[in-house]
Amino acid sequence: MKKEISEVAVIGSGIMGSGIAQIFAQSGYNVTIYDKDQASLTISMDRITRNIKKWCKKNGVDEEEALLKNIRKAGSIVGIQQADFIIEAVTEKLEVKQAVFLQVEEVVSDQAIIASNTSGISISAIAESCQNKERVIGTHFFNPPYRMPLVEVIQGDRTSSQTVETAQELMESIGKTSVLAADVPGFIVNRIITPMLNQAMLTYEQGIATASDIDSAIKLAMGHPMGPLELADYIGLDTILFFMEDVYQKTGDQMYKPGVILKQLVEEGKLGFKSGAGFYHYKEEGEKVEKKKQIF
Ligand code: NAD
Repeated sequence: MKKEISEVAVIGSGIMGSGIAQIFAQSGYNVTIYDKDQASLTISMDRITRNIKKWCKKNGVDEEEALLKNIRKAGSIVGIQQADFIIEAVTEKLEVKQAVFLQVEEVVSDQAIIASNTSGISISAIAESCQNKERVIGTHFFNPPYRMPLVEVIQGDRTSSQTVETAQELMESIGKTSVLAADVPGFIVNRIITPMLNQAMLTYEQGIATASDIDSAIKLAMGHPMGPLELADYIGLDTILFFMEDVYQKTGDQMYKPGVILKQLVEEGKLGFKSGAGFYHYKEEGEKVEKKKQIF
């Protein structure tokens, strides 16, 4: 039997954590968001407030004040103790996620479900650090979480069917369609698209075409809304690099072997849209992003 969820917590207030917190608050859940970095939390709360106001205006919703009251920030991990469903959206590194799951288990009730928004790390591996592995699950949102309709739900080796059922119903309650994926690297979507992003980066690195021509080619030929290099910038180049290195180390599959350009950009702190530069330059003025310029 599924569990009733009313209190949701999100750990990590970066791009994904902010968007996930926003969609739950907009859907009427009480949401607590926590990040170890207070500056990131402040930026996140501003972003969520701005987005909820914009969403209310666009959709003629007059409960702006009530929706904004649904969300609060926690100054420490203890602040999430009331949550029935916790979604971790911290840095894409196994050891970081395992440490967060340990911390979460210490403060929440035995009934709470703990989910990871990992793009590709094994849910069973994350659960290794937990006492109760049956309540650990993957809920993989797509960027931006308040707009993209899909959530991959990932069942680890020990995840109970009750946990799966509760997670899928919860996703449905916030207007998402969930698909159930096995606990394999990349699950469904990233398993399929990462080799394509890698090929686009290598095509660029080898001087075959400019970034904007690669993006135009794929958009126009395939009917994709974004080109692969724009998409890579949007996802975050560090996130992609962590994922590819992990899969490449585990499988030796050349499709996931990162090229020089990706490593170089990440080393230089050019992580894509979130850092202001990646394969393109971005200038943020409020919500408006200036026309992209190529940097190579
Ligand atoms: P991000 O770098 O924007 O944000 C990560 C946040 O986690 C930062 O604010 C950081 O301070 C915080 N953090 C790190 N360690 C922490 C800890 N121990 N305790 C509390 N907070 C901590 O990252 P993101 O792009 O939002 O990605 C978050 C997760 O979502 C990753 O697992 C990523 O793979 C996954 N994901 C990302 C995308 C995407 O398009 N960016 C899409 C789907 C899934």
